[in-house]
Amino acid sequence: MREVDVKLITEKVRDLCMEANTDLGQDVLQAFDRAIEREESPVAIEILKELKENARIAKEEKVAICQDTGFAVIFLEVGQDVRLIGGNLTEAIHEGVRQGYRDGYLRKSLCHPFTRANTGDNTPAVIHTDIVPGEKVKITVAPKGGGSENMSRVMMLTPSDGIEGVKRFVIQRVKESGSNPCPPTIVGVGIGGTLEQSALLAKKSLLRPLGTKNPDLELDRLESEILVGINNLGIGPQGLGGRTTSLAVHILMMPCHIASLPLAVNIQCHVQRHKEVII
Ligand code: SF4
Repeated sequence: MREVDVKLITEKVRDLCMEANTDLGQDVLQAFDRAIEREESPVAIEILKELKENARIAKEEKVAICQDTGFAVIFLEVGQDVRLIGGNLTEAIHEGVRQGYRDGYLRKSLCHPFTRANTGDNTPAVIHTDIVPGEKVKITVAPKGGGSENMSRVMMLTPSDGIEGVKRFVIQRVKESGSNPCPPTIVGVGIGGTLEQSALLAKKSLLRPLGTKNPDLELDRLESEILVGINNLGIGPQGLGGRTTSLAVHILMMPCHIASLPLAVNIQCHVQRHKEVII
């Protein structure tokens, strides 16, 4: 059995928090380029170029891509042949978030739901853990902005709503969101499972690199159809019109109960941040 000291996890989470908030992935930058080629609106093209420039400055000067540095969402895959030593894993992750947001001069965005008193260090993180085969630990840090999270929804459709009901709901959600989630967005969709599982599927679907295909051909087709419907809405970058309301639709699906058709839409703004490491 391999031993991993949780202090190493603290260190990695710290670094990933800073990296994710300052270094936008190449896949996102390439998606901006493809959108610029397709766009017809001069204003939309200008905004997309500004987003690229903003990402360049953030990376070079090591400053946050956006003032909203997000809720620290952590996905952990822990190999079942790993023995974690040196302390409490959850605490180690929180300490990593605390250090990353402090050392990276990242805004602390979490507060008490009613008093709105800031927690002061951007903790607690939301931690999703999967136990997987092997002796590695994979850590993904995916800071999630409030504006786009606010526009996300879970809907328990009825089985008879079917695939057309899913399409209608997702496109309508993007339409009603307008400029609020800072388009161009990436639309994460979770279909099936239970209420909470559909939301987790939607969030996990956002981790897939932009520009890659869904391995399920039926879902790949559905993603394309929904994306066309969304981009025909004309909301455009920052809501100022254009064909690029969303850069991609990503879907994850699993079986559901015979009585239900759970559907979650997790909207992600253009600051599509996530960084990962395997130790
Ligand atoms: S939704 Fe995204 S781009 Fe808009 S303010 Fe929040 S993090 Fe920034």
